[in-house]
Amino acid sequence: MNPDLLKKLQQITEQNVMNIETHKKEGNHAIGFYCIYAPTELAVAANAIPLPLCGTRQDPIEAAEESLPRNLCPLIKSSYGFAATDTCPFFKFSDIIVADTTCDGKKKMFELMSDIKPVHVLQLPQQQNFELFLEPWKNEIENLKSIIEQTTGTEITREKMGDAVKLMNAERKAKKRLMDVAMANPSPITGKQMVEILFKTGFFADKEQGIDLMNEIADSCEARTRSGEAAYKAGTPRILLAGVPIGLGSDKVVHILEDSGANVVAFENCTGYKQTFQVDETKDPVDALAEQYLSVPCSVMSPNHGRMDLLDEMITGFSVDGVVDLTWQACHTYNVEAHQVQRFIEDRFQLPYLHIETDYSESDTEQLRVRIEAFLEMI
Ligand code: SF4
Ligand code: SF4
Repeated sequence: MNPDLLKKLQQITEQNVMNIETHKKEGNHAIGFYCIYAPTELAVAANAIPLPLCGTRQDPIEAAEESLPRNLCPLIKSSYGFAATDTCPFFKFSDIIVADTTCDGKKKMFELMSDIKPVHVLQLPQQQNFELFLEPWKNEIENLKSIIEQTTGTEITREKMGDAVKLMNAERKAKKRLMDVAMANPSPITGKQMVEILFKTGFFADKEQGIDLMNEIADSCEARTRSGEAAYKAGTPRILLAGVPIGLGSDKVVHILEDSGANVVAFENCTGYKQTFQVDETKDPVDALAEQYLSVPCSVMSPNHGRMDLLDEMITGFSVDGVVDLTWQACHTYNVEAHQVQRFIEDRFQLPYLHIETDYSESDTEQLRVRIEAFLEMI
């Protein structure tokens, strides 16, 4: 990938914290979000910066374990640890936290977090049966709209919501375009670079800036492919990483895979392709947001057929040679669902499949390396 664009990404990342500070000093707001089920469009419509807060680093986990059980998903412990130790600038900037009842560990953790900052928890249905659950979910979204209006002192009109939907759709489109450059075989970009770009642009206060940069990177990658350049040589095993979300600090499996001679070309998780769905711009914004967000195929949904459809589309689209399915320790939903994913991948695609259960620490790195190397030899 063009190193100048990585430098530009770093410069905007460094400037970004100051941009958020300025935005707040001018009397505006920032809202922290813990999951991709909550519509960030409502924050954007109120001129508040939406900030993704799911923790991806090991550092605050020890502090979190003073209040939370050790045997809990590292994402939940990291998220709470950052809040409890007041070490995440984005948590600090957030005037209110928007969370949702996804898995048991997360929703109970939010009860503790509400002692630190105001937390609004959306009651997320656990099934995507629209007949039963769309109306209550719409009510949740209307209720969140009122809470954001009270917090920001800004009325969220249908028109503002419509504009926010358009802007966030443009961001999702740019993300998809960026991820799709890796459909080229060989890919012009490494999986490590892809994680870095997706992670850092997620915090950008200026959404347009993030959209432009992702499109610029996609242009440059497409040009590389046209001129026959690639990040890895032809024949490098192409891996789809499925399962739990990752980010900088929780991307060790991507590093081990690529250091062992593979290229992670596709990310099925909620920090990857699950963020690329378009909201219908022709419908009433609340209806459209409710339908699209409730459709996210995360394992907290039961059943979760949409995930198999997504895997189906991605395995074919990215010409994948193998699937690595990642589960954070103590994440029961992804852990149990791994069985169905394995069956689906082996029966339908006859592809090598590896399930990994780990946490954010480096303690099992060598053990993982041995398993991953053995897996890559099967390809
Ligand atoms: S894995 Fe599911 S519950 Fe966890 S952050 Fe992603 S969408 Fe939310
Ligand atoms: S990875 Fe699993 S346990 Fe962790 S927050 Fe997401 S759904 Fe919950």
